[in-house]
Formats: sequence, C-alpha cells, structure tokens
Amino acid sequence: MPSKDISNTKRGNGTTKKNAFCSFCRKSYRDVGPLVEGPGDVYICGECIELCQSILDQEQRRRGPAKTLFSEIASPRAIVEHLNQYVIGQEAAKKVLGVAVHNHYKRLNSEWEGAQEVEIEKSNILLVGPTGSGKTLLARSLARMLNVPFAIGDATTLTEAGYVGEDVENLLLKLLHAADFDLEAAQRGILYIDEVDKIGKTSNNVSITRDVSGEGVQQSLLKMLEGTIANVPPQGGRKHPEQQYIQMDTSNILFICGGTFTGIEDIIRKRLGDRKLGFGGGSVHRDNSDAAGLLSQVRSDDILEFGLIPELVGRLPVVSNLLPLDVDGLVRVMREPKNALTKQYQALFKMENCELNFTDEALRFIAQKATDKGVGARGLRGILEEVMLDLMYELPDQPEGTVYTIDENIVAGRTKPFPMSKSA
Ligand code: ADP
Repeated sequence: MPSKDISNTKRGNGTTKKNAFCSFCRKSYRDVGPLVEGPGDVYICGECIELCQSILDQEQRRRGPAKTLFSEIASPRAIVEHLNQYVIGQEAAKKVLGVAVHNHYKRLNSEWEGAQEVEIEKSNILLVGPTGSGKTLLARSLARMLNVPFAIGDATTLTEAGYVGEDVENLLLKLLHAADFDLEAAQRGILYIDEVDKIGKTSNNVSITRDVSGEGVQQSLLKMLEGTIANVPPQGGRKHPEQQYIQMDTSNILFICGGTFTGIEDIIRKRLGDRKLGFGGGSVHRDNSDAAGLLSQVRSDDILEFGLIPELVGRLPVVSNLLPLDVDGLVRVMREPKNALTKQYQALFKMENCELNFTDEALRFIAQKATDKGVGARGLRGILEEVMLDLMYELPDQPEGTVYTIDENIVAGRTKPFPMSKSA
C-alpha cells in the first residue's frame, strides 16, 4: 500500500509545506527533513521510507531463497561436489557433512507427510582437526551453497553468567546480524562455533586454561544446542523497535562445532589399546603420520574423555575428523579451489594485462614453510603475500604483456622477483 502511493507522488524537496508531517510516524517536516508528498495531503519521511523498504526486503527474502531451499534439497552427493570446489581433501568430513546437512534440511521440510508421526532429530556436527585444515571453510562453504545465514563464533570468548566475557546469546546475535535481522531466516541458519575443545573441564585436556568456568559454559552451550527460546539482546547491533530482547528459537539452527582437541590422539591410542591401526580405509593416505591415522578414528567416547560433558557430547551426535594437510595438499590448496590464492593473484595480473605463473617448486617451498610453522593452510596467504609484495608494488608501472614466473629462488629470497623474473 505505501509503495503504491509513493509511485504516484511528486518529490517534496523544498516545496514541502512548512506545517506538513509524515502520515506514517506523525513527525513534522522540521524534525525529519523533506517529505515525499502523495495524493491528497499524504506525506512520508525518509525514515519511514527506509523502514518500509526493509519490511519489503524481508518479505522478499522470506518468499525468495527460502522457497528454493526447501523445494529442492541438495543430495549428499551434490553437497560434497559443491564442497569439492572449495575444500581440498577431507573426504571423510565432507561425506559426513553432506549427509547431516541433507537430513537436517529434510527434517525442516515440514510438508513431508510423515512429519507428524516420526520426528527426525537434529544432528549437530562436531569437527575435530588441526588448525588450518579447513573446518571453518567447510562450514562457510556449506552455508554459501544452502543460501542460509551463517555466522562464526568462538567458544573461548564465552563465559558463565557473572564473569567478564560474552554470553552464548551473543553467538546467536551474530547469526541474526548475518541474516540482516530476519529472525525467521536466522532460525534456520548455520552457526559455526570454533574452539569448543578449549572449554573442556578435565585434566585430560592438555590445553586447558580455564577449568573454573568450563563446565558452566558447556551447560549454556548445551541449552542452545538442544533447542531453546533464547533471549538475544540486540545491544550494540542495529536498532530494533520496541522490545529489549529478541526471542530466538534455536531448535532449527544447525550447529557445527569445531576444535583441534590437541592431544586427543593419546586418548584414541589408549582406547584402541594394542590393536594395530588400520590404514586401509581409503580416507587415510599412506604417508600420513600416526597421529593422523589415530585422528581418523575419533569417536564420541574420546571427546567425552577429553572433557566435554556427556550431555553436550550427546547433542553433537555427528563427529568427523579433518586431517592435517601435507605439502602436496597445501600446494593443491594454493592452486585448485575456485578462489585459490594463485588464481587471485593471476586475476590481479590479468587486470594489468600481464601474466603470472608459479612453478611447482615455488609452491612446494611455500607449503613447506607453512608446515614448519604448524599453521596448516592458514599460513599460506601470509607467506605468499610477503613473496608477492615487491612485485605487486611495481606491477602497475611495468609494461603490459609481461609474463612473470615465480620460482623457488624468488620464494626463498635468493633472487628478487623483479625485474629478474621478467621474461618478455
Ligand atoms: P580451521 O578452521 O580448520 O582452523 P580454516 O578453515 O579457517 O581452518 O582454514 C583457513 C584457510 O586456509 C581457509 O580460509 C582456506 O583458505 C585455507 N584452507 C584450509 N584448509 C583448506 C582445505 N582443506 N582446502 C582448501 N583450503 C583450505
């Protein structure tokens, strides 16, 4: 209705009558500035136009993507194929995620005729794997595919009520932000909570730094994972009319928790006892270390033993592992994904009508450096940026049509990338 009126109006600007007021919020011209005039002494102010626009946008979002999401649920295979475009390796985790997410969205499909009889339980997911192995990337890539709001939180920032720190509700607020305060969309979103291993409570947790409040935080996380109506304070975020808290139902949010669980290999080894480890499963490559072999056999029991409370472990029924990326894997990370680092640099060079190549040796050198630092794929960008800095600085001043090749000598700092790498 308002949008119809507006389309028939002329602009208020300076011609707005001095005593005019907005027909929607009743504020005067003096308070809110120029008004847009409609037929028959109807006016609307800028603020109300914005508000109307956001209402219409919300409605649009609700009708648009949500429909496509539920009318056709991607198969686990299609989900894995999508993930393959962005995430190298980690086949086991991809498969587990594919099935869990597929089932999750099937569960949300309330139009299914058997929905009344059988209630399909939610399968929140726990990803165990070292830093920089792709846990966050997996969760992010999933959300992108499913076209649902996605947010990342960190369990270590959380504290029990009464302590300085964040409440778990703040994680939900992030999701709400990601959904642009579209509550319905947020309630179907994906929340990735990193570092859940750091809130373990027992002495088994070798990386423990916070015994005191660990269990309390787990309890509040548990509530959220179980499904509750949480009171989310919109504080700090965008203004929200009227209420102090936004009531958010967490029962349909898919929670993906991640953690490195440093030292969990020892727990797995103990559980397996003297039994010889099986490396024939296909997902574990022969050249992976013993630790990786153990990690691929992680189960809920081990997570329990590590120090997460049983109720919380119970709410994370799907446990999967990610293996550390070896040098070959890291080289693939730099070359293959859709938005691989080398592709990004090549695009930048193309914009200057130049060409950029990396030799395999150069990338292996970088991969080795990242491995030595123990930061997995997370370290690649930093190392590559350092290597590329001088060249990126000079590039815009160089002649077009130049072909540059980054080789091992340049990466190792033995030769300067410029002008020696220039080859007509
Ligand atoms: P984690 O959450 O396991 O610590 P991230 O997912 O944050 O690691 O990885 C950091 C970055 O490293 C990602 O943004 C991505 O660029 C790269 N990366 C990590 N693992 C992979 C992988 N398996 N395939 C492709 N890129 C990866």
